[in-house]
Amino acid sequence: KGFHDFKLSNQIVKALDSLEYKIPTEVQSKVIPLVLEKIDLVVKSQTGSGKTASYGIPICELVDWEENKPQALILTPTRELAVQVKEDFINIGRFKRIKATAVYGKQPFAIQKTELKQKTHIVVGTPGRVLDHIERGTLILDQINYLVIDEADEMLNMGFIEQVEAIIKALPKNRVTMLFSATLPEAVKDLSLRYMKTPIDIEI
Ligand code: AMP
Repeated sequence: KGFHDFKLSNQIVKALDSLEYKIPTEVQSKVIPLVLEKIDLVVKSQTGSGKTASYGIPICELVDWEENKPQALILTPTRELAVQVKEDFINIGRFKRIKATAVYGKQPFAIQKTELKQKTHIVVGTPGRVLDHIERGTLILDQINYLVIDEADEMLNMGFIEQVEAIIKALPKNRVTMLFSATLPEAVKDLSLRYMKTPIDIEI
């Protein structure tokens, strides 16, 4: 099966062509159709499996370009991953002119505040800084329809779980939630039980 079987818009298909993504990876084959159906997912998969595009492609497809407030929030354990994920969104969303912003510690708050004031469809960030922006009112959450918790086990290892929970609690209830993790320790399963709507489990 190819990407054309997902009935994606031409803008997204064109971007995948230019990235030379010809065949969906296993995680992409499983995840893309379910996200397009707006189903909550818990996905056990490693980095390098193409997991970023597995949520990046359907989120770029579903995002409403006209909406000025952020529609998707992606949480990552590290700054490096946040920047990488943001780049992936920009690449996949290129022909739809999707805007993505990364927020993370170490970079001055003011720069990110200015970026968040501009139109952005996607916000990618590390939990501490995302929470900062929420608390200071610089990140508006009322249009967030999609939440991705990426590398959830790493988030746990780095002691970010409480911050992740605080962020989830601030989000609109009517949303799609996707959790990705290489391993599924109890605390991660707990998170999915408490904050997701009968998620489908996918193991790669
Ligand atoms: P990830 O697991 O998201 O870190 O992706 C691993 C690498 O695979 C990245 O460099 C992606 O650009 C690349 N990639 C993702 N999906 C595909 C695909 N369907 N075909 C070819 N390369 C891909």
